[in-house]
Amino acid sequence: MNKAPTRHRIVIVGGGAGGLELATRLGDRVGHAVDITLIDRNRTHVWKPKLHEIAAGSMDLSVHEVDYLAQAHWHRFRYRIGEMTGLDRERRRILVAPSHDADGREITPLREFGYDTLIIGVGSQSNDFRTPGVNVHAMKLESQADARRFHARMVDACIRAHAQAAPLRPEQLKVAIIGAGATGVELAAELQRTTREVLAYGLDRVDPDKDLQVTLIEASDRVLPALPPRLSRVTQEMLAGLGVKVHTGVRVAEVLRDGVRLADGRLLPAELVVWAAGVKAPEFLGNLGLETNDVHQLVVRPTLQTTRDDAIFALGDCAACPWRDGTVPPRAQAAHQQALHLYRQVRRRLAGKPLQEYHYRDFGSLVSIGKFGTVGHMLGGLVGRSFMVEGAFARLMYLSLYKKHELTLHGPAKVALETLSRVIARRTRPLVKLH
Ligand SMILES: Cc1cc2nc3c(=O)[nH]c(=O)nc-3n(C[C@H](O)[C@H](O)[C@H](O)COP(=O)(O)OP(=O)(O)OC[C@H]3O[C@@H](n4cnc5c(N)ncnc54)[C@H](O)[C@@H]3O)c2cc1C
Repeated sequence: MNKAPTRHRIVIVGGGAGGLELATRLGDRVGHAVDITLIDRNRTHVWKPKLHEIAAGSMDLSVHEVDYLAQAHWHRFRYRIGEMTGLDRERRRILVAPSHDADGREITPLREFGYDTLIIGVGSQSNDFRTPGVNVHAMKLESQADARRFHARMVDACIRAHAQAAPLRPEQLKVAIIGAGATGVELAAELQRTTREVLAYGLDRVDPDKDLQVTLIEASDRVLPALPPRLSRVTQEMLAGLGVKVHTGVRVAEVLRDGVRLADGRLLPAELVVWAAGVKAPEFLGNLGLETNDVHQLVVRPTLQTTRDDAIFALGDCAACPWRDGTVPPRAQAAHQQALHLYRQVRRRLAGKPLQEYHYRDFGSLVSIGKFGTVGHMLGGLVGRSFMVEGAFARLMYLSLYKKHELTLHGPAKVALETLSRVIARRTRPLVKLH
């Protein structure tokens, strides 16, 4: 049955850290009065900062993934699967490519969706800076599929090494992670622990201390280059204590089938290579007729409206929003804040009120070093300056960011029940996922 043509049509593209929160909030409050459609190329949502835990096997994906169809049903918005590829600004329609199943059969045809307000939150992907071999030989951690693929290859590598009669080849059971930002550091620490736990399930012909090696490679002169130097020192000491090898001040010239060639000519053998350096927005954003920057982000005004079209907004990693001398950093806390801001602005827009500006509030950054610790720096409104945090308090702050996301999606009652069931499940299930 056709809806009355007078209903305002809100289309949100990208159901990530920002987009799904926005669709849920809007659906809850105004879903009875306007048409809200969320479009995502995937069927389920996983909060991206959890990807390294899926890759390492320390998180059970099924417990944390959110099914878009069910979420839409419970929160009064519509979900449509598909990948946005084009935009017709004059007719106010977006173009969504056909979707296919694993065997290549078409599920949905090429479609168009009309909008009155369009919000684009398609996130970012890693930037390989055209380094040779990355696309062919390195893995990335951009999606659930990437994380699952990495995990399967890691477990296979352990089983293969255990089963083979011949001595291990130099690259076997070596993991090289390129980029020592938060993602690289967190993955290295998590892997260092989980690979040992996988081997402890009876793969006793492999000696973890002798055979396993996780190496972190960073072009700048310290790990976590975006954070204060003191934090880098503490983190590097923690990583060394865990047995992670760290190479700083070295550039990767090429990724090979069995390792990494550095710009100074050295070869680091590796069976698994992960590219975790740099981010850029999806390239199709540059073909929409909207203003983009050199990493394909949509340039937005402080209201989060794109510079060339008042009806089109952007949020999260794909938005270049002015902040200090640059732009708001691509972080989950920014996507969360912008989703809340846009929720309020869309309501103002529906009420015909002028829009307010978004101001990024930087609360600092936290990095989880696996089960061994969490470090970070907080920007305290209370003390007015940056201070370092470590240990239980830092861990609590780190977990609270995800809890905020879950609370927005599910509300307090469901989150409390799910947290309790996870705690119970943790006592009965293996610590590390094997498949
Ligand atoms: C491994 C990893 C660890 C991280 N750790 C942290 C951390 O500890 N702290 C922190 O603050 N940040 C962290 N980040 C960054 C954080 O995840 C992002 O800043 C945040 O997810 C951005 O939210 P978003 O809504 O902009 O995009 P995303 O959460 O990336 O969501 C984008 C969505 O758009 C969909 N999409 C993409 N293209 C299309 C298209 N063409 N059509 C339809 N749908 C599309 C995707 O499927 C996805 O669902 C991490 C990122 C990674 C990859």
